[in-house]
Amino acid sequence: MSANTINGKELAHKLREEMAEEVSRLRSEGIVPHLTVIIVGDDPASKSYVNGKKKASAQTGISSEVIEMPSSLSQDRLLEKIEELNNDEAVHGILVQLPLPEHIDEQLVIESISPYKDVDGFHPFNIGKMMTGDAAFLPCTPYGILTMLHSYDIPISGKHAVVLGRSNIVGKPVGQLLLNENATVTYCHSRTDNLYDYTRSADILIAAVGKPNMISADDIKEGSVIIDVGINRQEDGSLTGDVDFASAAEKASHITPVPKGVGPMTITMLLQNTIKAAKGLSRRGG
Ligand code: NDP
Repeated sequence: MSANTINGKELAHKLREEMAEEVSRLRSEGIVPHLTVIIVGDDPASKSYVNGKKKASAQTGISSEVIEMPSSLSQDRLLEKIEELNNDEAVHGILVQLPLPEHIDEQLVIESISPYKDVDGFHPFNIGKMMTGDAAFLPCTPYGILTMLHSYDIPISGKHAVVLGRSNIVGKPVGQLLLNENATVTYCHSRTDNLYDYTRSADILIAAVGKPNMISADDIKEGSVIIDVGINRQEDGSLTGDVDFASAAEKASHITPVPKGVGPMTITMLLQNTIKAAKGLSRRGG
């Protein structure tokens, strides 16, 4: 068998075109979706992520602003700025780029963002709503994965989904979203005994670890769906996922490549959340 490649780049492009139409409609009604991104310090990777978000926003007609703050910034000053943005009606989405400098309490910052503007979906209010299956801002990478599965008509209900990794931003929430759709979910992590016994029984395998080629054809079930979240930079500068794509593609039914897989979906869902915030959907429960 040779797997169907789930083309995240193509899907992201299609979704962004649809979003651009929606933004244009909103603008004609006088609503200009606006995202404010705060970046503290000058970490090059963070700067590059923020630039990507700004560019993608502009392409879909979403207005965005990047507030750059020095790494010496005090926690109180950052909290004050967030409060100001919480109270600014023209700002629909607020994103604080992580990681923050060590002297700033990240969790406190996340919790200071209004849950109705929390387009990253990291606020405990939104995490709680996601757990109970209510309308919420969903964290962007898991939301993107779910959107990919839906777009490729991949059945979830009743399937065994195995999630490798249990981080708060990827592993845990993606498992919860799959559970909400009636998958039977197993989480594996660095302390899991006999991890490959689980991966070999997975109908849907989500690899979100950050270990290049940790999964190959021998570790997966024939006909399974493989979602590779991992992003690992190799010595030659190229990117690779957690899955050995070439061998796994011989056995899987569907597989995401790295790059052009999950990555482009993440920013796309941030845009989607910003539009949702502008429409006030999560507040009204839509
Ligand atoms: P974290 O480092 O926060 O979490 C990694 C998880 O993998 C942890 O739960 C850890 O277990 C587990 N783990 C580590 N080693 C092993 C092992 N040998 N066997 C099984 N589990 C292991 O990473 P993130 O969740 O933030 O990211 C995961 C990967 O996804 C990274 O490569 C990251 O770059 C990528 N990523 C990609 C995104 C995208 O848009 N495509 C977005 C976000 C992340 P434990 O909890 O026990 O320590």
